[in-house]
Amino acid sequence: MSLLKHAKQYLANQSKYAHLNAFVSLAEPSKLLSRGETSTSDHVKTRFHDVTDKPIAIKDNICTKDLKTTASTGILKGFTSPYDATVVKLLQDAGAVVAGKTNMDEFGMGSHSTHSHAGPVKMYRHTADEEKSAGGSSGGSALAVASAQCWAALGTDTGGSVRLPAAYTGVVGFKPSYGLLSRWGVVAYANSLDTVGILGKNVGDVGAVFDKLNAYDPQDPTSLPPSTRARLEKDSTRSSTPLRIGIPLDYNITTLQPAVRQAWLRTLRFLWEQGHSLHPVRLPATQHALSAYYILAPAEASSNLAKYDGVRYGSRAEGIDGTPESVLFAKTRGQGFGPEVQRRILLGAFTLSAQAIDNYFIQAQKVRRVVQQDFNNVFSTQNPLVEGTSESAEEVDKVDVIVCPTAPTPAPSLANVKDQDPISAYMNDVFTVPASLAGLPAISIPVQITPEDQTAEHADYAFDESVGIQVIGQYGDDKLVLEVADAVA
Ligand code: GLN
Repeated sequence: MSLLKHAKQYLANQSKYAHLNAFVSLAEPSKLLSRGETSTSDHVKTRFHDVTDKPIAIKDNICTKDLKTTASTGILKGFTSPYDATVVKLLQDAGAVVAGKTNMDEFGMGSHSTHSHAGPVKMYRHTADEEKSAGGSSGGSALAVASAQCWAALGTDTGGSVRLPAAYTGVVGFKPSYGLLSRWGVVAYANSLDTVGILGKNVGDVGAVFDKLNAYDPQDPTSLPPSTRARLEKDSTRSSTPLRIGIPLDYNITTLQPAVRQAWLRTLRFLWEQGHSLHPVRLPATQHALSAYYILAPAEASSNLAKYDGVRYGSRAEGIDGTPESVLFAKTRGQGFGPEVQRRILLGAFTLSAQAIDNYFIQAQKVRRVVQQDFNNVFSTQNPLVEGTSESAEEVDKVDVIVCPTAPTPAPSLANVKDQDPISAYMNDVFTVPASLAGLPAISIPVQITPEDQTAEHADYAFDESVGIQVIGQYGDDKLVLEVADAVA
């Protein structure tokens, strides 16, 4: 099919699936069409896994100068960035087209893309089906890819926000190692965890986008410097087959739904049949990772969001000019921030307060360190960011990658999650936050539950029943993680 035909198909789907609320703003159709007209290449055959001329959707917390950047929050409504984020610039330099900005949970805080100033993202697995959660917080990006409204999408993943929506919508979602992709121009949620991630229909497409974005950015102080990148490159030339696959026993929790457990087992059996070996591993700190995450992320958020006060940043509440500063701040923040964001700010301000910091924030930092050590104990390669050797006291079976579910359940119904208490919503992140706390590369790939269910009617609509299976690797082993994902998908 020609590129023009594809561009027209993406645009047609943008109208057809507008009710899913995946986008908060769309690029001018002419931007997509003009590329289609001038490009002579065949979209599928000669340009496979190449970003040139491809429409890529951008999560609305990543700055673009042509389209608004609201992070789905009221306090940034109407904000247009004077510059493009580095990741957007890199994509455009590589010839890609920005398709639009995608809906999300406000500032990235949430797991179902329901906490949005632009209204919730809605997913339908089948036409007559009930509304499902598209996952969050990059639910708009994931759904835009799943419903073929764009070729690929960028999201952000702080504690699972690329992988969870990928799992719920049936697409591939990749969170690279922390520090590889630039955060310059990305609206901060929790700096020490925030990672730009990539969503696509297959691993090859995701890998192609990753290759364009994986570059040092002097504007981002946490961007991995060239010397360390060179070292990672050298280390990753080791031969990768057959692989030692780790099965984390601590992830086999009682709330894991049977369909997810089946898909996990099937994936492991498949890898074993390919000649790889399977090894049970223990990651005991996993059970504390979630609590630690929900201390650390809100703590960083409360500090990051302090600047939105209606004076330095953010749209000021109406009719309060001339009131004392404290009133102006309170009204602006009360109106501009949604309830979940307010909850996180309060939580964060509390855990950082003098009477609570020792019992909460400091403890959570310690748990984070133990989670990192857990991973370092089981991986066969040394973490390149850790000095010295990580020999653990007891002899444990070392592995190359870990394979586990992305979430305990398939996509839940939207009605159920709307009235969910916050703690239950946080539980969705139980399998994704450990890799975030350790900064490790992790990818979610869709594994079908019932492949025969797919009908011709839904052929362009990848919403057949699937669950997400996650591959986690040692820091810097991003290429290996993509390779294993490609073998499984
Ligand atoms: N659901 C998690 C949270 O609300 C993760 C969000 C994310 O990765 N941005 O913090």
